[in-house]
Amino acid sequence: MSKLLIIEDEESIADLEKDYLELSGFEVEIEPRGDIGMQRALEEDFDLIILDLMLPGVDGFEICRNIRAKKDIPVIMVSAKKDDIDKIRGLGLGADDYMTKPFSPSELVARVKAHLARYERLVGSGVQENEVIEIRGIKIDKTARRVWVNGEEKAFTSKEYDLLTFLAQNPNHVGAKEERFSKIWDMESIGDIATVTVHIKKIREKIEFNTAKPQYIETIWGVGYRFKV
Ligand code: CA
Repeated sequence: MSKLLIIEDEESIADLEKDYLELSGFEVEIEPRGDIGMQRALEEDFDLIILDLMLPGVDGFEICRNIRAKKDIPVIMVSAKKDDIDKIRGLGLGADDYMTKPFSPSELVARVKAHLARYERLVGSGVQENEVIEIRGIKIDKTARRVWVNGEEKAFTSKEYDLLTFLAQNPNHVGAKEERFSKIWDMESIGDIATVTVHIKKIREKIEFNTAKPQYIETIWGVGYRFKV
């Protein structure tokens, strides 16, 4: 069930909006103060915000700007003045919709439904986009945890994969071995740096053309390893 927050200081309007939206199956909360409303919109898990313009504490302009900086949930701004709506549009605050009071509650419900549906499509398409690292013939699909070398898929153990990905994500950076690998192995196994050397050797066998002259993972003697870009 979608959860909505109405930030509105006029109680009668807020209650009317809430009643209609609840009848349409939404879970609705009301916050009459701008400052608290902004905090709740940013920190809590709402699917859509209905935002009044003139509010005690912080006004709707500021609230919209702050929500947009951190979240991409739909924001519908409402105001009693047509001029204010024009101003909101002009400021480009990133609100998804604007409504002038008084409006019919059924129109509000229709717009809420439309924006939630659009947002769900947006989020749904985002999930399918895999995060990929590509460096000189090596392709790492971080979402699927798969690796290709010059178009050919190679199998890695979980630790080898973590190590390769870690190095590829921090290219041309050399750190102390312990600092570097403490992010992948628990402290117990870091004590045995020979383990890392073994994993590096196995990774090189899979990605390097000539392991004696590595083109991707360089050894920086006495310091650690570096992924060359
Ligand atoms: Ca108001």
